[in-house]
Amino acid sequence: PCMFNHYPLVVSRENLLARLPEYPFIIIDLMLWDIHIPKEKGKVALQVRETYSVVRRYLWNRMLAVTWLNGEFERLASFPLNRVKAYSGPTADFLREKGIDEVVLLDPNAEKDLSPDDLSARAFIIGGIVDMKGDKKGTTARIGEAIEEAGIRVRRRRISLRGDVVGVPDRINHIAEILLRMLVLGEDMERAILAVQ
Ligand code: SAM
Repeated sequence: PCMFNHYPLVVSRENLLARLPEYPFIIIDLMLWDIHIPKEKGKVALQVRETYSVVRRYLWNRMLAVTWLNGEFERLASFPLNRVKAYSGPTADFLREKGIDEVVLLDPNAEKDLSPDDLSARAFIIGGIVDMKGDKKGTTARIGEAIEEAGIRVRRRRISLRGDVVGVPDRINHIAEILLRMLVLGEDMERAILAVQ
């Protein structure tokens, strides 16, 4: 018999789960779902599914949240929505329920780069936006405005490669992976971008 059989099981599954950190949340905000054409909606859904795998790889599935959930997305999402925080209401309401009053919004048009100081935030928001059709430049800022209007502080931050967003992959799952490599592996921005490219 295995020697460990003589020892009491000190770490139960419940115990272990209770000890997992509750933050940070990686939030995909679907507020702008309806500005997309059907093909783009399919791409958003696919990229969110890929983000689910990325979050599972670096953290835990329950740290991924999807806000402004709608029926159409639910039908298109081909991953278990019950394993993430799926929230039908506004992002600001979700944040308030979690007691979070300041967030980092990842925004390619922000003035400041994401820095190590920002990594202690309790929530990071990525826009559920895909750019195929029409000009959606600047739309991520609208997500930030909605959250600010609800009284939550928003730090808009950019991920850039030597001062430029050109060369930074803009897919939702890639942005999530760059962030997670900085957050979990402690990589600097350039290294994280190059690893994901
Ligand atoms: N057209 C949108 C805009 O101009 O605001 C960008 C959409 S981008 C395809 C999808 C999401 O990925 C953005 O909402 C943002 O959260 C994130 N993202 C993409 N590139 C980024 C970058 N270089 N820095 C920070 N966030 C980025």
